[in-house]
Amino acid sequence: MKVVETIGAMKRVRLELTEPVGFVPTMGYLHEGHLALVRQARAENPSVVVSIFINPTQFGPKEDFDKYPRDPEHDLALLEKEKTDIVFMPSEVKIYPPQFSSWVEVRKVTERLEGASRPGHFRGVTTVVAKLFNIVQPTKAYFGQKDAQQLVVIKKMVADLNMNLEIVTIPTVREPNGMAMSSRNAYLNPEQRQAATVLYKAISLAQRLWLRGGRDAEHMRQEMITLMKKEPLASIDYVSVADAKTLDELDTINPPALVSLAVKIGKTRLIDNVVLE
Ligand code: AMP
Repeated sequence: MKVVETIGAMKRVRLELTEPVGFVPTMGYLHEGHLALVRQARAENPSVVVSIFINPTQFGPKEDFDKYPRDPEHDLALLEKEKTDIVFMPSEVKIYPPQFSSWVEVRKVTERLEGASRPGHFRGVTTVVAKLFNIVQPTKAYFGQKDAQQLVVIKKMVADLNMNLEIVTIPTVREPNGMAMSSRNAYLNPEQRQAATVLYKAISLAQRLWLRGGRDAEHMRQEMITLMKKEPLASIDYVSVADAKTLDELDTINPPALVSLAVKIGKTRLIDNVVLE
């Protein structure tokens, strides 16, 4: 496994990789969710590149950029075990040198849900992902269903800008208690971790309603809200039942529909989702 820290070095080692090249972009503090992406990339490609970069431009001014968890040594040990070929770990100034002034912006699907709650978030995501794609030149890039809207946005960017790669979706990896694995779970104390299972309970309820023939989106939202209001440590940011492609809110549920939610447990903002098919 090679660790490269500059864009020039990444481009040089890229020239020697056997095609196809699988790429997994991450912000580090890796867990089994990230490793599921790496394993799929490993299974499908002779060459695997993983990037670790905490992208400052996707964090709002009041968000957790400064305290986002980091453990590069542990990350490298995990990636070594997964037989990663290249780890790209650039510094912030390499990615955003002074006077950096170009941005990639996807409209519409970025304006709701996470985009509405976190202004500028997706502009940061699409800009850094476009830069990473240009630097790494992957054949396939792997993203988690955990960040469902991010996947919709990235697929739209790739289609609209004719980017020459395939986007692969990996199902959400969960803790034994159902909660989606996330680097941000590290912020939770034991009581908050228990409270955080309410997100999974809410999306499981939505799934059950759907399987029983429930087609009324507003009824589904209200049932989820009622359930989550019973958890005193949870404060709801949004609950959405939307078209899985356009992210338009639905009245009548037509599959595939994306049920997604964002909830704060203490100061920690968590998201989860399920696709109704
Ligand atoms: P992050 O480091 O949070 O930017 O995540 C890097 C990639 O891992 C993204 O494509 C995420 O969607 C994916 N990911 C994060 N958590 C999970 C999870 N629990 N299951 C599957 N993929 C995940």
